[in-house]
Amino acid sequence: MPELPEVETVMRGLEPAMMNKEIKHVQKRRPDLRIPFPENLEKALEGRAVQSLTRRAKYILVHFDSDDVLVIHLGMSGRVLIVSDDDYQPEKHDHLILTMNDGTHIVYNDPRRFGMVFLVSQDGMLSHKAFKDMGSEPLGNDFNAPILKERLKGKKTSIKQALLDQRVVCGLGNIYVCEALYEAGISPKALAGSISLPRLEILTRKIKDVLARAIKAGGSSLKDFRQADGELGYFQHSFLVYDREGHVCKGCKEEGYDKPCVKRIVQSGRSTFYCMRRQKR
Ligand SMILES: [Zn+2]
Repeated sequence: MPELPEVETVMRGLEPAMMNKEIKHVQKRRPDLRIPFPENLEKALEGRAVQSLTRRAKYILVHFDSDDVLVIHLGMSGRVLIVSDDDYQPEKHDHLILTMNDGTHIVYNDPRRFGMVFLVSQDGMLSHKAFKDMGSEPLGNDFNAPILKERLKGKKTSIKQALLDQRVVCGLGNIYVCEALYEAGISPKALAGSISLPRLEILTRKIKDVLARAIKAGGSSLKDFRQADGELGYFQHSFLVYDREGHVCKGCKEEGYDKPCVKRIVQSGRSTFYCMRRQKR
């Protein structure tokens, strides 16, 4: 499933293909993904120029020289392809094709169709149900230890669950929560409201580091991906604890410890991976 770093990478990859270009043609190849495509999509976008691309949580936002913002969510298996081939023939799961005025096709492909494409107005965006209760962007300046402390105040849930709550911080998925808690040395079972400010300082910094590193890794392999087949893809990251149950973590290994330390537990139906030695409540 595309997580925040992948969505950021896809957004950055789309910039050169879409920015300051007009949409010449919109082709829907089926009526819906998880929700129906907007009926007026062609009318709203054709002849309009893209002014900027941004990201909010795991949503890609395409801002036009009208009041419209095209919102794309990749769901579980959504991908965006940039196709500059004149002989492009849509493939089975190519559900939406935006053809730019330079002939490039921006293709939304999604075998499982859990993705979403919809329109919001620039002014109405903040009050739209997808965005109105969203917490801070983890990479933004308004995500810091004092703010996090305030949001976690009195919370009796685990820190792992709290960090997955989109009202606390948005777009942070399961993998990156596990990795950041490991790097901060905080047990995923620690009570959210009980973690001290100095430890939250470390945690917020580690969250930003982990995401920034993943974006950087994605950014560098993106180029090869696009040269290969025009695909803005996702990348195999190397994780320190995620999906490493029964292994010795990097930190323990460096200390010469050789007994398996990475454990998997289930919290709110999701797998949590952590080091039993290094992560404290
Ligand atoms: Zn360990």
